[in-house]
Amino acid sequence: MKRLFLTLEKAKEIIAKYPTPIHVYDEKGIVDNARELMQAFSWNKNFKEYFAVKATPNPEILRILKNEGCGVDCASYTELLMADAMGFRGDEIMFSSNETAPEEYQLARKLNAIINLDDITHIEFLEEVASIPEKICLRYNPGGKFTINNQIMGSPADAKYGMTRAQLAQAIKKLQKKGVKGFGIHSFLASNTMGNEYYPKLAKIIFEAMVELYEETGAKFIFANLSGGIGVPYRPNQKKNDIFVIAEGVKKAYEETIQKSGIKDIALYTELGRYMLAPYGHLVTTAIHEKHIYKEYIGVDACAANLMRPAIYGAYHHITVLGKEDEKPEYTYDVVGSLCENSDKFAIDRKLPKIDKGDILVIHDAGAHGFSMGYNYNGKLRSAEVLLKADGSFKLIRRAETPKDYFATINFYPEFKDYR
Ligand SMILES: *Cc1c(COP(=O)(O)O)cnc(C)c1O
Repeated sequence: MKRLFLTLEKAKEIIAKYPTPIHVYDEKGIVDNARELMQAFSWNKNFKEYFAVKATPNPEILRILKNEGCGVDCASYTELLMADAMGFRGDEIMFSSNETAPEEYQLARKLNAIINLDDITHIEFLEEVASIPEKICLRYNPGGKFTINNQIMGSPADAKYGMTRAQLAQAIKKLQKKGVKGFGIHSFLASNTMGNEYYPKLAKIIFEAMVELYEETGAKFIFANLSGGIGVPYRPNQKKNDIFVIAEGVKKAYEETIQKSGIKDIALYTELGRYMLAPYGHLVTTAIHEKHIYKEYIGVDACAANLMRPAIYGAYHHITVLGKEDEKPEYTYDVVGSLCENSDKFAIDRKLPKIDKGDILVIHDAGAHGFSMGYNYNGKLRSAEVLLKADGSFKLIRRAETPKDYFATINFYPEFKDYR
């Protein structure tokens, strides 16, 4: 069963103020889940989750997570600005960028964020455009195939990120000469992983490399950054990952490697995005058309510009018709958006209860990589974001775009003067 945090009544109440399409977030769900993560990793004294801002770049979401003790993981100039604006300071900001522009490194250094270097050549680049910090993180790409139980989970050799094992050693030696005193190692090898084996396996790879590097270079290691990648069950028949089992698996890898080595003790960091937010966001949309041709279509007022994952990855997002939760799914529909793109389909051949015009649909698991991947194709405007609080009250946390926002970058043309 998919988790639903909106009733038809509550949705109507919200929509009366903020019309569909809207993204609604469940504060209680976010907080409970964050607390569970902290508890699972509480065996590691300095554990910290750096929320991947790109997943849900909303100030209110960042504030909620900050109150739970999270930092932020940024990858661009504006994400750094948002982190700064929301009061994240120094070590609370991880800067895991790639193909980084000079002004991005400059801002990261100004904010004293922890820089996660994607490549060995960025040492000179960083030194040239800004300066080398005392503490730094290095992104590791072990190459080859990444397997769990003989199943291929990813192909690091084909990924653009990180440095080779040999480069890590060279980079550390270089950085030691430039005054770096503390190091971290980061790696991200698979996305949206289901099953509890990913983090333990990744941790083992990072820890083993770290122990070897410690022996090779004598570097002082302060933290391991396990990055993102823990998945969520998008399909109703998928089992939720067990964060306690995951954390125990990481602990075992830690005991077998770090604790047995001269390193003894490091902090563990994560940069989870999807796991922190995806299930706690609903894209709420209204059925506005039905169409009967070679297939049965339901046209909704949301489109791929509000949630792009189905259109670009063919990703499954569960759909609930509010008020019809208990009706039998006896109809087969394509649920589609309005873009002039045939891939703009939230669901294809989906079994659902009979949908009537005016029905309100919840598209599940839109809380991460949902709104944030939105775009303005076809002149579509970005939707509002609303936070549903534990007491049932709700709050606008981003207003919907208007044509004025859309024309803001061209309103110096006299033809658009009415939109200034
Ligand atoms: C995207 C990203 C994350 C978050 O990934 P999720 O799949 O949302 O957990 C974390 N770290 C880095 C460097 C990323 O690029």
